[in-house]
Amino acid sequence: MEKIKMATPIVEMDGDEMTRILWKMIKDYLLDPYIELNTEYYDLGLKHRNETNDQVTVDSANAVKKYKVAVKCATITPNAARVEEYDLKEMWKSPNGTIRAILDGTVFRAPIVVKGIEPCVKNWKKPITIARHAYGDVYKGSEMKIPGAGKVELVYTAEDGTQMKELVHNFTGAGIVQGMHNVNASIESFARSCFSYALDTKQNLWFATKDTISKKYDHTFKDVFQEIYDAEYEEKFKVAGIEYFYTLIDDAVARVMKSEGGFIWACKNYDGDVMSDMVSSAFGSLAMMTSVLVSPEGYYEYEAAHGTVQRHYYKHLKGEETSTNSVATIFAWSGALRKRGELDENKELMEFADKLEQSTIRTIEEGYMTKDLAVITTIENPTVLNSEEFIKAIAERL
Ligand code: NAP
Ligand code: MG
Repeated sequence: MEKIKMATPIVEMDGDEMTRILWKMIKDYLLDPYIELNTEYYDLGLKHRNETNDQVTVDSANAVKKYKVAVKCATITPNAARVEEYDLKEMWKSPNGTIRAILDGTVFRAPIVVKGIEPCVKNWKKPITIARHAYGDVYKGSEMKIPGAGKVELVYTAEDGTQMKELVHNFTGAGIVQGMHNVNASIESFARSCFSYALDTKQNLWFATKDTISKKYDHTFKDVFQEIYDAEYEEKFKVAGIEYFYTLIDDAVARVMKSEGGFIWACKNYDGDVMSDMVSSAFGSLAMMTSVLVSPEGYYEYEAAHGTVQRHYYKHLKGEETSTNSVATIFAWSGALRKRGELDENKELMEFADKLEQSTIRTIEEGYMTKDLAVITTIENPTVLNSEEFIKAIAERL
């Protein structure tokens, strides 16, 4: 068989621990035999990030601006223990945070739906994709404990010195207060990323806030979305046969539970934090969640939603067998290859991405899976495979 060719590279960001081991196996068994892989390789493994003073992370993000498509392996976000373990010069920042800051994107998370791994919510038939706004609100808030009686005000001082004031509360005793903000530019990119991703995946887009209570703050989110939709996307949505739907957050939650899925749910920062964990655990497993960072300019970075699976890696280092689920990492590759195919009009590459996903799903549906799925599946007597056997079982079907 002649291997599939790629005219333009994708940016490949290698990572850490168990997912780095899976990364190599995926390339060896599932990609290299079929594709003349054309990637620009960046080693985001912690050792190399430390050697380059984290420059490699910045370089890899800038490469995404050039090639538009990236695939990323899970990486360690250093904490005190990692500084010691890897003898780090500094506690380097989260690579995902660095990349997101450079590309200004929104993260979309969606479960991989497979027969035999049934969602807890029985009417959910199709994936629900959560888009979480990743800037501001309580995550950049300032807080105070109020010791006793007194007045709290919001004060805005313009560059020319003029002021606006708003009373928060006249305290008669002790209490607490919080100030938070967002910026229109960030809300606008969030909106554009959501509208483009909805068009890209031909799914309806839902957005919800509490604008009836928060008449300026949340209402601005609602208005920004509506203005951008009316000016830039309404026609495109009509042509694609999809819709944009705004409602109140509590109404949205009720409708989500009653829905059959198959849409994108755009959430403010806090709502996205909370709801993405609810949706992903209800769908079954963190190891079955995909994640893609979409920038408002249309750059795409695909990855798995889970981390480096440290506990399994330590077992692997001791020579013990692991049964680590590679599905989300495989789907990161298929997502990136399909997008590359779309942008380059490379039909063979797009078809390969479909086949890779179908083979992966078939493997599980035929009862061959890793341990994490075997304990939750409704399939009787599943065959539990180790990390490598599972990838080989997919390769056989591929
Ligand atoms: P984790 O790697 O997501 O793993 C947590 C636990 O979830 C595992 O111990 C395992 O449970 C289960 N699990 C997750 N993925 C699995 C898979 N593919 N197959 C089977 N089981 C899976 O989270 P963590 O252990 O808290 O974090 C490890 C490192 O990952 C940290 O250094 C963190 O900074 C990093 N991280 C990176 C990213 C990213 O790059 N996007 C995201 C999150 C965390 P059992 O042990 O019970 O089998
Ligand atoms: Mg969270």
